[in-house]
Amino acid sequence: MLEGRYFPPRSARIVPARALAANGRLRIEDTSGALLAEAEPRRVRVSPRLGHLARGFDLADGSRFETDDNDGADALVRALRLKGAGRTLDRIERSWRFVAASVVVAVALSIGYVEFGIPWLAGRLAAATPDSVARLISRQTLDLIDGSMLGASKLAPSDRAHAETVFARVARAAPRGAGGYRLALRDGRGIGANAFALPDGTVVLTDQLWKLKADDNEIAGVFAHEMAHVDRRHGLQSVYQASMIPAAIALISGDVSQMGHLATILPGVLVQSAYARGFEQQADDDAAALMIRMGMKPSELANLLDRMEAKHCGKPGCPRDWIGDHPDTQLRSQKLRAETK
Ligand SMILES: [Zn+2]
Repeated sequence: MLEGRYFPPRSARIVPARALAANGRLRIEDTSGALLAEAEPRRVRVSPRLGHLARGFDLADGSRFETDDNDGADALVRALRLKGAGRTLDRIERSWRFVAASVVVAVALSIGYVEFGIPWLAGRLAAATPDSVARLISRQTLDLIDGSMLGASKLAPSDRAHAETVFARVARAAPRGAGGYRLALRDGRGIGANAFALPDGTVVLTDQLWKLKADDNEIAGVFAHEMAHVDRRHGLQSVYQASMIPAAIALISGDVSQMGHLATILPGVLVQSAYARGFEQQADDDAAALMIRMGMKPSELANLLDRMEAKHCGKPGCPRDWIGDHPDTQLRSQKLRAETK
């Protein structure tokens, strides 16, 4: 017996009443047991259980029975197999499935955006970037690094001339030709043995890396590798890739402070040899092909990589040098040796 209130059809009256199952039908009677209403279960709609809210049983004639006894209402719903409740459960279940599916789709789209969308877009933007912009970014980047991590080259004039000669030889064989690249020699006082390429074709080589070479072909391999980064616009692509996640966050959240760090992206990527692995692989492959065209062996670049790996200080706080990530170095030199015919 379910205690509650009865609202007769088309009336403002409220009648204290109780509801029960009788002969498979919903029976609503007043406190004396006199019949107020009766209905087939299939013609009764039950409101869903929501916290402590009263439950309503709506009858087809427009009348309504209401109760605060939620457990009693559930028992009556089960006894009469009333519809509405089942449908509500269904709906909740369906909406949970919908929420779960939405989350899966959102996560998949986010991963897709990061994995494929961003690199694709970054590639398009890098290709469309005018040379004047590439030059501007390059100048600003070099100014920033020059003031902090690089000093004027301390190499002897004869060494500097020697480096220029090797560089020019590689540049003539590279896609942009002799005028397409420029060598900038620097003392890598904060970044040790290092080389990196700026988007405008400037290749920075530190004195420390120059001194590590056993012969010219090793450093020619470094130049070929850096020129490949220029040709493939890896620097610009890295900037665009790194800025698109903050850009997306800024767009979605309205938090524009995310965009504030963009100016430091390229120096960070270049100095820490933090190119994506795929870019390094591409630059190595291009360098190997160029070295072979020039009658050199890619294994000569591998020799330099191996020597740097062996010398690498390996202590925390040690600056990352041209070889970048350690675990990759062996793979890189193995691949270069495999490309040596
Ligand atoms: Zn590289």
